[in-house]
Order: sequence, then structure tokens, then C-alpha cells
Amino acid sequence: MTLDPETATFLIAGPVRIHPRVLRAMATPSLNHRGDYFHGVVQEIRELLPVAFGTKGHQVVISGSGTAGLEAVYSGLVPKDGRTVVVANGNFGDRTDKIVRRYSSQVTTVRGPWGQGLPVDEVRAELEKGDVRAVCLVHNETSVGLVNDLGALAPAVRRAGALFLVDGISAVCGIPVPIEAWGIDAVVAGSQKGLAAPAGLALVHLSDRAVAALHPGTFYLDLAAHLTSLEKNDTPWTPAVPLFLALCEALRVLRDEGLEHRLERTRRLAEASRAAVGALGLELFPDPRFASDTVTAIRNPEGLGDPQLRKVLEKDYHVLLQGGQGPLVGKIFRVGHMGIADWPDLLVTFAALERILGKHAKLPRPGAALSEIVARMP
Ligand code: PLP
Repeated sequence: MTLDPETATFLIAGPVRIHPRVLRAMATPSLNHRGDYFHGVVQEIRELLPVAFGTKGHQVVISGSGTAGLEAVYSGLVPKDGRTVVVANGNFGDRTDKIVRRYSSQVTTVRGPWGQGLPVDEVRAELEKGDVRAVCLVHNETSVGLVNDLGALAPAVRRAGALFLVDGISAVCGIPVPIEAWGIDAVVAGSQKGLAAPAGLALVHLSDRAVAALHPGTFYLDLAAHLTSLEKNDTPWTPAVPLFLALCEALRVLRDEGLEHRLERTRRLAEASRAAVGALGLELFPDPRFASDTVTAIRNPEGLGDPQLRKVLEKDYHVLLQGGQGPLVGKIFRVGHMGIADWPDLLVTFAALERILGKHAKLPRPGAALSEIVARMP
């Protein structure tokens, strides 16, 4: 039987499974995006965005995937004069570097090995050299299943007086992002991750300081234009109307569950996944001290690449997981457990993994991975 997306177990690292309420919201007939009904939708989104970010602030929604949000932030806030420091320890850190370099010629990139924690001392040393106006980095490095401890860096960024610009695409609604405590000036979220809305929207939170520092960057992604429009429950250009409707419903679902509850469920699913990985005799890719709670990255077992593992999961068990990116293609696979992912998803996934490993005589203790999960269920 070919894979049926309506019934498959879907645990890629975003887009994530979408609640039927949210799917139905997208099927609304065409609306006038300058009419009262749609203004009401935008108003409700505006009122609910603090639920997703966990705080109030200047918040906008951009039609475009997470990268559009990053481009809006970097083009509008990376200084034309003065240095910018980019920190990169994964594929999305490298992407940040590429975007930032389009908007500044004074960029210093501090690189760390993929899967290892932030090179905090090196970044501090760069900040101490002076004239750093912005620090740009990824909070949750989806590509390697790693959380960067921004709290360890935040005081140094503050001392330097630099803007703290964060890719929170797979962090927001998945792990705690203490925006105010860490003095983050801009954070970008993607609709398709912890929020469990369809792909195609970027949510941006800005501090007062960031709003004051905005300069014209790209035309379409001008954050000042988005902020001005949103104050009138409007958007500067024609928005992705069905996605806005879905976002509104996804925010309602989140409000009904509560952000704390969603973060706690995500954390417990992550803990269970890590325990199950150990019971399968497999290894996490990242340093376990920094393993992400939204996505678990696992080294492929010796001799089992994507054709023997993920392709079989998909074909025989209708379980979708994600592979590695860049140099990690075929070397790791990733289980996403953010958004509305829940215990049955994990049980099916790890049962299928047990079966596949068992068939290759690579399963140390049959049933052990499932027992680890069951032991952690509520
Ligand atoms: N940054 C991070 C941390 C991500 O996880 C992703 C997508 O997975 C992106 C950036 C790119 O976002 P998008 O593909 O929505 O443009």
C-alpha cells in the first residue's frame, strides 16, 4: 500500500502534524483581505501571538516561510556600519551566516563543531574586541537536534550593547525561550514547528530597542511596514489568507492547551525518545547535555542507511522521519516530537524501529525501547 498522508505517523522535524480543526480552517471560501471579517481574524491573531511567544511585544506575521522572517530581521536590523557576529554550529547556523552576509560586509563568524555546544568563550572574545552591533544565531539547531544555551551568552551580548537576533524557528512553542530574561531583541518562529500550523508563515517578535533600530531593508519584508499595518489589523500586502485562518485556529488550539503544557509534553516526549534510543543500542548525534527537546537526532546504525531505515519505515510502517542535512545525509535520522505530537506517535515509531533493527539482528533487548516509553507516559 502506498503511503496515505491522512493516516501516516508523521514525525518529521517540521512541518508537523496539524490538528483537524486547523486543517478545516484553511478550507474557508475566499475572503476579502481588506474586509471586516479578515480584519477580525488578524485582530485575533494579534491578540493571541503573545500566547505563542510567551510574552508581549511588537509581533508580526509575515507571509513566507521561516527564512522570510529571518531575512526580514537581518535585512532590517543588521547594522550597515559596525560589526555583526554570527555563531554557527549546524546547517541553520550556516544559513544565518549566508543571509547576514547579504546585508553586511563586516561579519565575523564563530563556528563550532556540529552537534557540540555553543563556543561561548570564542563569542565572548569577539564581543570584547568591541564595535559589535548585532549577534545572530540559532536557538534550536534543528539540523543536529541541539539546543544552544543562549542564556550563557546573553549577559555578554548585553554588555556589548549589541542587538541579540535569534532564529527561534524550531524553538518557539517547543522549548522555553525566555525572551525578556535573556534580552533577546528579535526572535523568529516558523508556523510549521511547535505551533503546529501549516508551513508558510513566519512570526517575528521584536523588542522596543529593535523597533527603534529598524532601518529599511527589503521592500516586501519591511518589518516597520508590517508593524504599522498590524496596528490596524491589516497587512501591508495581500497575505496568505488561508494560512492566516489556519494560524488563528492553531493559536486557539495552543491557548486551549496552554503554552506551559505544550512545552512540558514536548519535553516528556523528548526524554522518552532519548531513553528509547539508548534502549535500541543507538546513539544520539549531539552532545547529550544539549540534546533538543523538539527533535531527537540519532546516528544511523552501522550498515543501515536511509534505504534500509527511513525508506522501510515509510514503505512498510507508514512512519515518516527526517534524514540528515548536508554532510549528515545518510548518517543521522531525526525524530521530531513538537507541536501536537503525542505518545501514540512515539509508540508506533519506536515499535517500527525495533522491528527493523530486529530483522537486521541489531536489537539488543526486544521490547526495551517501548518499555522506556511506556514507563514515561502520564
Ligand atoms: N532555521 C531553523 C532552526 C529551522 O529549523 C528551519 C527549518 O527547518 C529554518 C531555519 C528554515 O525555515 P523555513 O524552511 O521555514 O524557511
